[in-house]
Amino acid sequence: LVNRSFHAENKNVEIGNVIFGEGHFQVISGPCSVESEEQIIEVAKAVKKSGATILRGGAYKPRSSPYSFQGLQEDGLKLLSIAKKETGLPIITEMTNIRQLENFDDVDIIQIGARNMQNFDLLKEVGHCRKPVLLKRGLNNTIEEFLMSAEYIMAGGNENIILCERGIRTIETMTRNTLDVSAVPLLKKESYLPVIIDPSHASGIRSLVPPLSKAAVAVGVDGLMIETHNDPAQALCDGAQSLDLLQFDSLMQDIKRRVEFE
Ligand code: PEP
Ligand code: MN
Repeated sequence: LVNRSFHAENKNVEIGNVIFGEGHFQVISGPCSVESEEQIIEVAKAVKKSGATILRGGAYKPRSSPYSFQGLQEDGLKLLSIAKKETGLPIITEMTNIRQLENFDDVDIIQIGARNMQNFDLLKEVGHCRKPVLLKRGLNNTIEEFLMSAEYIMAGGNENIILCERGIRTIETMTRNTLDVSAVPLLKKESYLPVIIDPSHASGIRSLVPPLSKAAVAVGVDGLMIETHNDPAQALCDGAQSLDLLQFDSLMQDIKRRVEFE
C-alpha cells in the first residue's frame, strides 16, 4: 500500500489547512516534554510567530531510565490543549500505548516514537483510527523495516502517515545518533508518503540542528521537527539539543530563504 508504484500521486496528509506533501513545507516545533502551562504557552506563541505550523510536546515520555522524568501524562495533554486554544496551532504528541487513545481527542497528529516503530500491536491500533500519524524511524531499523511499519498502519485503513527520519545508531559516539540523509530520497523513491527530518534527536547537539536542517532541506524533505525550549538549560528532557526561542527564530529565517513555505 505504501509502494509508490501503486499511486499516481504523492500523498498529502492534511491537518485542517496544514498540508504535509509535495509543494508544501511544514515545521513542527516545541519542547521535548510539556513541563508547565507557562512553558508550553510561551514556547507555542514564540514558535508560531517564527513560522512553525504544528506544536509538539511530549506528555508520555519513553525514557531510557525509569528514574528520568516520565512526562506529565494526562495533565500534559490538557496543557497542550490549552496551548492549542491559545494559539490555534494543531498539536502532535507521542502515544506509547493504545489505552491513551481516549485522551487524544484534541490531539491532531499521533506520534509513534522510534522505540515503538516495531510495536506491531500499537501500529495496528493506530491503523484503525483516522487521525494522522507521524511514524519515526527506529534507532536500529532499516528503511525497508520502516516502510513495513508504515504498511502495518495502512493495512488497517489509515493512509494519513508522515515518515520521520530521526537518526540511527552507528559506530559514531560524538553525536547521539547519525542522521541518515539518504533515507529521504530513498523513502520518496519507494513510497508516496511525505517525509520529514528531526535534526534534534538525530544529533543530540544544539549547534548541529541548523546545519542538519539545511541538509534536510537540500535533500528534499517535506518538513522538519525541531525541539525548542524557553530555557533549555532548565529543560527536564533533551535540553542539550533544544534551541532557545531566539535561535529557533533565526533558523526559521534562514530556512525561509531556502524553501517556500505553504
Ligand atoms: C520525541 O520526538 O519526543 C522522541 C522521543 O523522539 P524519538 O522517538 O525519535 O526518540
Ligand atoms: Mn526529545
